[in-house]
Amino acid sequence: GFNCGIVGLPNVGKSTLFNALTEAAQAEAANYPFCTIEPNVGRVPVPDARLDRLAEVAKSAKVLPTQLEFVDIAGLVRGASKGEGLGNQFLANIRQVDAILHLLRCFEGDTTHVEGSVDPIRDAETIDTELMLADLDSIERQLDQIQKKAKQGEKDAIERRNVMEPVAEALRNGKPARAVQLTPEQQPVLRQLHLMTSKPVLYVSNVDEGAVATGNKYSEMVAERAKAEGAGHVVISAAIEAEVAALTDPEEKQAFLEELGLNESGLARVIKEGYRLLDLITFFTVGPKEARAWTVRRGANAPEAAGVIHSDMQRGFIRAETIFWQDFVDCGGESSAKEAGKMRVEGRDYTVKDGDVFHFRFNV
Ligand code: GDP
Repeated sequence: GFNCGIVGLPNVGKSTLFNALTEAAQAEAANYPFCTIEPNVGRVPVPDARLDRLAEVAKSAKVLPTQLEFVDIAGLVRGASKGEGLGNQFLANIRQVDAILHLLRCFEGDTTHVEGSVDPIRDAETIDTELMLADLDSIERQLDQIQKKAKQGEKDAIERRNVMEPVAEALRNGKPARAVQLTPEQQPVLRQLHLMTSKPVLYVSNVDEGAVATGNKYSEMVAERAKAEGAGHVVISAAIEAEVAALTDPEEKQAFLEELGLNESGLARVIKEGYRLLDLITFFTVGPKEARAWTVRRGANAPEAAGVIHSDMQRGFIRAETIFWQDFVDCGGESSAKEAGKMRVEGRDYTVKDGDVFHFRFNV
């Protein structure tokens, strides 16, 4: 699965947010075939109105959304790159995640702030600095060797050097690895370096209860920063989300959200934005037993999508029968979509489109 690591200074609301996410997931657990939740890892269903429509049309007995993992990464403090706090352990956890959810304290309240005052931009910079220092350290430890091998003409080493040198330069100048312009061919080389500052970022402003619908002066500063960096941004109140997550009755939940001036929970927005940020696409399998959403990376071909369901389906892949979700819904189901000529037969080279409904044909 794909995952987002929740980072932020102590006391910004990370565990409050994490607990709200997992509580909301557990409330829906009845529908779930796998809901293993480790202490700091939670799997959360990704809301998708298309899946609900498909299930309605196909009268599927079960609806199974695709999932996104959230990891609560506690322990980042000023000086982490020098081994302060949980230091290296914390950094190792961040290297494993696909995207970073950077939670920033934008609420006043009585909670002690480790830096003495509310200032989300300073806090964001504190964390970014630690991540950049750690990335620079990791590159510098490999660079000498790579440069030597590159001089000897090793092709791999030349490719790596051509990525590492500009990235190291950017980091020395206080810029994250994601700010470096690379060619599409260089992107996989960058990914292999497992740098923290090359991962996509979603800033989440944690505001006071009263400011969830409007945001506040702090979240506006964060919004500006996110825009300048091309990062995502969502405003929530983690404390409120914890209350919303505890409500199991959907009508009660909707009424509470409306009272707050929201049409959707902050968690739903966080999950959707995290998913969007990872550049993932969703395909569906739909039948009377279940309607299910699955995830692949953008650019995946049909056999790779089949492989998400089962490795046998990828190995024995013959073809994919495909109906676009909107056609499936508009025609009123699979057989009428087929009759209307909306089904395509695609081969191994087909690039999966967001919203494809698939039947895979494969040899066992
Ligand atoms: P962590 O150290 O980042 O995991 O932070 P916690 O989730 O433990 O939260 C630290 C404190 O901030 C707790 O006392 C929370 O109740 C409080 N807190 C978290 N989110 C909010 C919020 O949205 N509004 C207010 N007023 N307090 C919050």
